[in-house]
Amino acid sequence: MRYSQYFIPTVKESPADAEVISHKLMLRSGMIRKVAAGIYNYLPLGLRTIRKVEQIIREEMNRSGAMEILMPMSTPAELWQESGRWEKYGKELLRFKDRKDAEFCMGPTHEETVTDIIRREVRSYRQLPLNLYQVQTKFRDEIRPRFGLMRGREFIMKDAYSFDVDSAAADISYDKMYNAYRRIFQRCGLNFRAVEADTGSIGGSSSHEFMVLADSGEDAIVSCSACDYAANMEKAEARQVQVTDHAEPRPLERVATPEKRNIQEVSAFLDAATSSVVKSLVFLADDEPVLALLRGDHDLNEIKLKNLLRCESLELAPDAIVEKVTGAPVGFAGPVGLKVRIVADHTVAGMKNFIVGGNEKDLHLKNVNLGRDFSVNLFADIRNVVPGDSCPRCSDGVMEIWRGIEVGHVFKLGTKYSESMKATYLDAAGKEQIIFMGCYGIGVGRSVAACIEQNHDADGIIFPIPIAPFHCIISALNPKDESVMGAAEQIYTELTNAGVETLLDDRDERPGSKFKDADLIGIPLRIVVGNKNLVNGNVELKQRRGGEVELLPIADAMAKVRQTVVEALAQ
Ligand code: ATP
Ligand code: MG
Repeated sequence: MRYSQYFIPTVKESPADAEVISHKLMLRSGMIRKVAAGIYNYLPLGLRTIRKVEQIIREEMNRSGAMEILMPMSTPAELWQESGRWEKYGKELLRFKDRKDAEFCMGPTHEETVTDIIRREVRSYRQLPLNLYQVQTKFRDEIRPRFGLMRGREFIMKDAYSFDVDSAAADISYDKMYNAYRRIFQRCGLNFRAVEADTGSIGGSSSHEFMVLADSGEDAIVSCSACDYAANMEKAEARQVQVTDHAEPRPLERVATPEKRNIQEVSAFLDAATSSVVKSLVFLADDEPVLALLRGDHDLNEIKLKNLLRCESLELAPDAIVEKVTGAPVGFAGPVGLKVRIVADHTVAGMKNFIVGGNEKDLHLKNVNLGRDFSVNLFADIRNVVPGDSCPRCSDGVMEIWRGIEVGHVFKLGTKYSESMKATYLDAAGKEQIIFMGCYGIGVGRSVAACIEQNHDADGIIFPIPIAPFHCIISALNPKDESVMGAAEQIYTELTNAGVETLLDDRDERPGSKFKDADLIGIPLRIVVGNKNLVNGNVELKQRRGGEVELLPIADAMAKVRQTVVEALAQ
């Protein structure tokens, strides 16, 4: 490709609406352009990288035995009504009607469509296992599309679905996908971790998320300093270490706390540690008020509470409900005298003489004690892990917390969709059995964005060779000089013939601006052809990562480029 004829609209300034570095760099390097919130055009450079990630995904999916199909984006409402998700999915599901008033949605995921294929075609256990995948555009009307391709509304996903005779066979399919995912993200050059994840509303029994470690990540992940336990914060177990305060219970005291509503304000006002206050949060679980208690320095984990209460919906109670339940304005709720179900975190069980809200305006209670002053219906793990917590799995480690970007998700679905949609097969005895499923997603654009979060410097992107839009750029410093252009053309032809994807910068631009663009778009290898070195038969070879520059005879520079590319692609 000749740069002069190629479409790479680079931009010097950082676009105002881009918050994270990958979004800024993808816009600046001319990879993508915004069409509407969360909806993007992929320009030539961006699409080349997207296609490379897709290719790696296809190779590894095919290697694992999965087969590529392509399902439509439009999905008839009937399929979603059968699975029950038409009502449940909420506003992320973009619904529309055709000219005959028939209802459809744009697929945000394709469990229903693929289960429909299988229930129509699979009759016998002999046809299983099957794993079908597609690389396709999804639509989710995200409430806050942001960070460019990281959280779009229209985005490319690889989604795979496995079908097995029973749970044990489904576990094997799951492990194959787990291993394929490891290879995919390794080949894309990502620094990632597979972490245990909550199975949440999709149901199912087990799930892992593949997290790219990056400070800009929207997810918190927890890992052990000693063993390989790692989990999403939503799922991470807090180890129950029973710390019991053996202090004698002191008499209950009422203390005035005018306008002191949150833990920080109350503890500062009463000169007490936040860990000596008990936080009281009123929730509505399927419309029933529930009080959740936590040590003041801990945060509630809503996913854990929701799973514990087995409710369909869980939300912090609106102010009016809090006032009705506690008889006090928001900020003064507490467990003493309250007539609702009380759930407390395990850590609360060991506390003595603590502070709680007094269920009256501007009132807190001091020296409150469990048993004497109120009782709890259920103790459970309902808090977020904090750094330094003991590991729930081993005895040596402490928990560390990282930020991560979820690029992939593998999920054991069990029979959730096959049961509601009646996807069955006949076993060897001729008996009808329900198929066991798994589903497996990778965000293609999000993986590219995550890769840039991990691979950039002040000058721009530093693509790993396997997903770089081009492997090598040849900067011809004075393209009007025939000997320079001649040598550059020759290198370009030879490298291209050798399978090295090469961009020839033949533009009539100053060297400085050529170098700036090459750095910005992140091409891993650069050959600089200029008349000063060419008279001695040399060119410069520069590595984008690390910035190492070597002066080499033309043939050696080409050999090194070829070898570097071959080695990187062989991994
Ligand atoms: P998130 O919690 O980030 O919204 P999710 O749990 O809804 O993700 P899945 O339903 O598991 O995501 O989708 C599979 C993969 O698709 C995710 O791992 C992610 O890489 C990608 N993905 C999901 N939502 C988006 C989005 N809005 N934009 C880009 N990629 C996405
Ligand atoms: Mg989502």
